[in-house]
Amino acid sequence: MSELTELSAEIKNCQKCILSQGRTHAVPGEGPENADIMFIGEGPGFHEDRQGRPFVGAAGKFLEELLTKIDLSRDDVYITNVVKCRPPGNRDPQAEEIEACQPYLDRQIELIHPRLIVTLGRFSMQRYFPGASISRIHGQAKRIGSVLYYPMFHPAAALHQPRWRPLVEEDILKIPELLVKLEDIEEEDETGAPQAEQLSLFDTGSWS
Ligand code: URA
Ligand code: SF4
Repeated sequence: MSELTELSAEIKNCQKCILSQGRTHAVPGEGPENADIMFIGEGPGFHEDRQGRPFVGAAGKFLEELLTKIDLSRDDVYITNVVKCRPPGNRDPQAEEIEACQPYLDRQIELIHPRLIVTLGRFSMQRYFPGASISRIHGQAKRIGSVLYYPMFHPAAALHQPRWRPLVEEDILKIPELLVKLEDIEEEDETGAPQAEQLSLFDTGSWS
């Protein structure tokens, strides 16, 4: 059994926070163990809780549609959430729940080693862009080491707020460009060329 599979099994039995009490299934996440791209959502909703799989409801359909626009499918990327168990009635996850669940996400990132981490919605953004406002920084990547962090609106928010839909579509369309940047970063790392600053901002729109 791979370490990632073991981790998923651990998550399925986890009782570290109160969300364990109302869940049908914990939703560890899914996708290739060597995925280059990881999407991090907020938490399971009704359908995810029932099926034990991330993004299988309406937001998931929209996410799949978005991926199609850049010639990717959900099988190409790793998809997970900030909290692995459904908050009752889909309420926001609370700080202590996010904190209790954080080590699982950190471990998933360590094991999968994605090059591009796409945060969906503000709960997932918060850790990597503390204090930021999603309406200001969506669609602007930040580099930390050799990983790019890329904040987007949550697809469910875009479904509820039609005026955000084009913004989400615009943001997803920038991903291929970010993947090209990652190739440059990789080359730089390999040739030992002077490393760019630990944190650099890209002209896809920059945030500081
Ligand atoms: N919304 C999320 O944030 N995550 C899911 O898995 C499904 C809907
Ligand atoms: Fe454990 Fe995370 Fe589920 Fe809380 S949300 S019970 S920490 S897996």
